[in-house]
Amino acid sequence: MNGKDKCNRLRELRRLICIQNGIPFTEEECTSSGDGCRGTCPKCDQALRLIAMRLAERKKAGLPVVLDEARKAYHSSLRQ
Ligand SMILES: [Zn+2]
Repeated sequence: MNGKDKCNRLRELRRLICIQNGIPFTEEECTSSGDGCRGTCPKCDQALRLIAMRLAERKKAGLPVVLDEARKAYHSSLRQ
């Protein structure tokens, strides 16, 4: 998998996590060019942190948090 494919895949998984958890997906497309992004550029990293924050808020509010499959896929994609 090249960097861009990986970036797109990770973004798609972030979108899935948002949908599953009722979090608005407000991410713009990552513009790191070519192999520049492996899902770990500052922009993608920040997007991930924002989702983690929203999930923590939901948990705190006693709302359901759905993660397992998407998170597993996310982390195994990151390692590739
Ligand atoms: Zn990126």
